[in-house]
Amino acid sequence: LDKRTVILRYHEIALKGRNRKWFEQRLATNAKRLVSREILGELSGEKEKISATLIDGRILLKAPWTNETRSALRRLFGLTSFSAVRPVKTDPQALVSAGIEALEDYLKDHEMPERFRVRTRRSHKALSATSMELDTLIGSAIKTKYPTLTVDLKNADFTLGVEIRTEESFVWSTSYQALGGLPVGTNASTLTLLSGGLDSPVAAIQILSRGSPTSFIHFHGVPFVGDQVLDKICRLAELVNRFQPHTQPLYVIPFGNIQEKIALAVHPKMRTVIYRRMMIRIASEVAKKIGVLALVTGESLGQVASQTLENLSTINSVAEIPILRPLIGMDKDKIIELAQRYETFSTSIEPTLDCCTLFADRHPILRSTDSTALEQERKFSVSDLVAEALSGMRTLGGRTGDPLHPIQ
Ligand code: ATP
Ligand code: MG
Repeated sequence: LDKRTVILRYHEIALKGRNRKWFEQRLATNAKRLVSREILGELSGEKEKISATLIDGRILLKAPWTNETRSALRRLFGLTSFSAVRPVKTDPQALVSAGIEALEDYLKDHEMPERFRVRTRRSHKALSATSMELDTLIGSAIKTKYPTLTVDLKNADFTLGVEIRTEESFVWSTSYQALGGLPVGTNASTLTLLSGGLDSPVAAIQILSRGSPTSFIHFHGVPFVGDQVLDKICRLAELVNRFQPHTQPLYVIPFGNIQEKIALAVHPKMRTVIYRRMMIRIASEVAKKIGVLALVTGESLGQVASQTLENLSTINSVAEIPILRPLIGMDKDKIIELAQRYETFSTSIEPTLDCCTLFADRHPILRSTDSTALEQERKFSVSDLVAEALSGMRTLGGRTGDPLHPIQ
């Protein structure tokens, strides 16, 4: 493998004090994991061959400079931007040559730009020349060699980046924007209620962006809903897993028979809210068992009948741990935009049957209360159904589960 040096940049503001080293190490480890998984697959022993080294304020990754590497880095939370760089001796003449070489490299797969600029940043004051003097020095050497180029500080279509450091300096032709956020693993773990729609995968990834790893739980309408749905859920879980350093399992709860029992017992208008309360009770039990601190859902205030504030509050009151709802204030356009950015959109919109529409009333109640829900729940045994659900649970993926591909 032909390895290049890739510089990883992150915001330093979030990292004051003692946490800083820990944050940087987490980011470096995650970079290595995401990149090697993308290039070499989960089980490859080649992992060690991709290295990530902390240098003052930056991380240096040695990795093949391929689409796979760029795609993995675009999913690395905590990163703000990255570039493939030429390491060069911290010396004006060496910087000039490296600048010309970087432009020539760029010209191999780009047209000749018209307007360019050089942007030097002195991370260390290792040279007596100022940033602007270095810009001019390197820029005029480039202009002499390529006279059609004009310098344009405001509207350049090519920017040569230069970073001056004591040990060695860096020169690059392209900076790629990344997602920002916090490195996954810098916060405690959660469990996402993953349904087949647009919202919950986006919700899961939003929580990852704040540093919390997440595993998944799906309530499967089997035997009324087929394996096709499960296949889609598995693929969605895999898409979300691409953003975290350790792939996490999907817990599958057989839910169709439980829904049927609830549907037969309760008032049709209350079915949806009661299903949701059962999901939250069951998910809370699983969360306790696997030791996570919160549940995550894709709920957004007022989006559908089950998401009025009254119904959300009725659903909330059976939770034993916090429910995080990162999409609560987002409208559908914003959620679609995020689904596209995170590349879950096309999978999410594949048509499948949703278990929540099983036996559902066309006009569910909008303003439920805890006491009306409790009244309905006296008509069946809540604890028996929770126990039934947990006894039928399957674990797919992660370190201990069956493969995350139920259908091959
Ligand atoms: P989504 O787009 O995520 O399917 P939605 O807009 O369809 O959400 P609802 O069906 O009301 O909204 O579901 C709200 C949330 O409840 C989902 O985002 C998800 O977190 C959870 N949920 C709903 N159904 C299931 C299910 N079968 N298994 C796991 N979680 C579910
Ligand atoms: Mg749904």
